[in-house]
Amino acid sequence: MSDEVQISPAHLLDIESTPPSTLRHMLNLADSMRERPSDFEASCDGRLLVNLFYEPSTRTRVSFEIAALRLGLRVVNIAAADSSVKKGETLMDTFRTLQAMAPDVVVVRHPEDGALAPLAEVAAPGLHLVNAGDGARSHPTQALLDLVTLEQHAGPLDQLIVVVAGDLHHSRVTRSGAALLKTMGVGELRLCAPPGLEAGPKVSAGARCFDSLDEALVGADVVMMLRIQHERLAGMAIPDPESYHRQWGLTEARLALAAPDCLVMHPGPMNRGVEIASSVADGPRSLILDQVANGVFTRMAVIHTLLHGTA
Ligand code: ASP
Repeated sequence: MSDEVQISPAHLLDIESTPPSTLRHMLNLADSMRERPSDFEASCDGRLLVNLFYEPSTRTRVSFEIAALRLGLRVVNIAAADSSVKKGETLMDTFRTLQAMAPDVVVVRHPEDGALAPLAEVAAPGLHLVNAGDGARSHPTQALLDLVTLEQHAGPLDQLIVVVAGDLHHSRVTRSGAALLKTMGVGELRLCAPPGLEAGPKVSAGARCFDSLDEALVGADVVMMLRIQHERLAGMAIPDPESYHRQWGLTEARLALAAPDCLVMHPGPMNRGVEIASSVADGPRSLILDQVANGVFTRMAVIHTLLHGTA
C-alpha cells in the first residue's frame, strides 16, 4: 500500500504556496492524460467551471475551456468587457455573485498582482480557484505546462541548462517558471534580460544572470524567449523593434551558440521579428505548439486534482 499522503488542495494560486508533492502529482497526471486521454473523459462529469478573464487571452482561456470540456465539466465564459465590471462592479462583488450560483471551479485572470488572495479568503468550501495570471506576479499553469513539455522532450531536468530571456521584470511566466524549475531541481537556470528589464532578487536567487544573450546561450539545452510586456511598461523607454531584435532577438545564428539540439520555447503571444525570428519559431527545434497542446493536458490535470485530490 502506498504511504503517500493524499492531499486535496483547495486552490491553485501560485507555485510558491503549493506543496512540491502536489505539483509533482499534477505534472505526472498531465503526462497520463496525454498518454491515455480516454481514461479521464467524463471524470468530472456535470461539474461547473467559470472562466473569469479581466485581461485578453487566447491560449489560456481556450485551453481551460477545452480541458474542462474534455473532463465532462460545463463551462461558462465571462469576459470583463461584457460584464457588470463595465458598470463599476468590483472583482470581489463579481466573485461573490458568481459564487452564489455555485460553480465548482472559478478560473481568474486579472491585471493586479495578488488579485486572487482576497477571493480565496471568502471562497466557500468546495469552490476551487485557479490563477490564470495575476499582473506580473504569477502564472502557475503556464509554469506547469512548460515543465510538462520540457520533461517530455528534453533530457532529465537535473542535467539541463535552461535559459529564460527577455522582459523578465514584468513577466509572471518568469516568476512562476523560475520557482517551479528550482523546486523540481533544474541543472542550471540562466536568466538574461536587457537593462532595466531584469528579474528581481527573489527570482534571480540561485540562477546565473546575464546581460548578453550570446553569452547566456553558450551550451544551453533549452531557451525560452519572452515578449516585452508593453501593457506593464508604464512609460519606460525600450529600443525600437529592429534594434531590439538585433541585440536581444533569438535568431538562427544566435541559436547556433547553444548546445546542438537546443530546444526553443515561448509562452505566446509571440512578436515575430522582435524577440524571436520566424525561422526559429517555426523551425525544427521549436516546442511552441507542443506547449499549447500540453496546456490542455496540464489544465485537465489541475482541474482534476482540485476536484478529486491527489488520490
Ligand atoms: N501568455 C503569457 C501571459 O499571460 C505570456 C505573455 O503574455 O507574454 O503572461
